[in-house]
Amino acid sequence: MAKALGADARAATVSKVRAWLEEHGIAIAGRFAEWANINSDEALARGMEIGDTLSGRPDTGAIRPS
Ligand SMILES: Cc1cc2nc3c(=O)[nH]c(=O)nc-3n(C[C@H](O)[C@H](O)[C@H](O)COP(=O)(O)OP(=O)(O)OC[C@H]3O[C@@H](n4cnc5c(N)ncnc54)[C@H](O)[C@@H]3O)c2cc1C
Repeated sequence: MAKALGADARAATVSKVRAWLEEHGIAIAGRFAEWANINSDEALARGMEIGDTLSGRPDTGAIRPS
């Protein structure tokens, strides 16, 4: 059953879930994966960053939104 969380509980819970994912080597990127209220340009940038990280490529900063 789903349970609504208050703003404080939400932040703490998201932080805990993100730490667990990181600890288990699970990379996340995007609005829903990160539980972050971001627009599409930021979602794209984060996807590109994670692509760079996972492929070992240096982050050139090219075509990133400001
Ligand atoms: C009403 C509304 C208006 C918005 N207006 C704007 C705007 O004007 N400008 C702007 O820049 N941004 C806007 N945004 C934000 C923008 O939509 C998001 O930032 C962007 O789409 C996030 O991209 P994403 O790839 O992280 O997630 P999404 O675009 O949601 O992509 C996630 C994809 O993963 C799929 N998926 C989910 N779970 C699974 C699963 N288990 N297995 C396989 N596939 C799965 C989903 O079906 C979806 O196709 C708006 C958002 C909303 C809700």
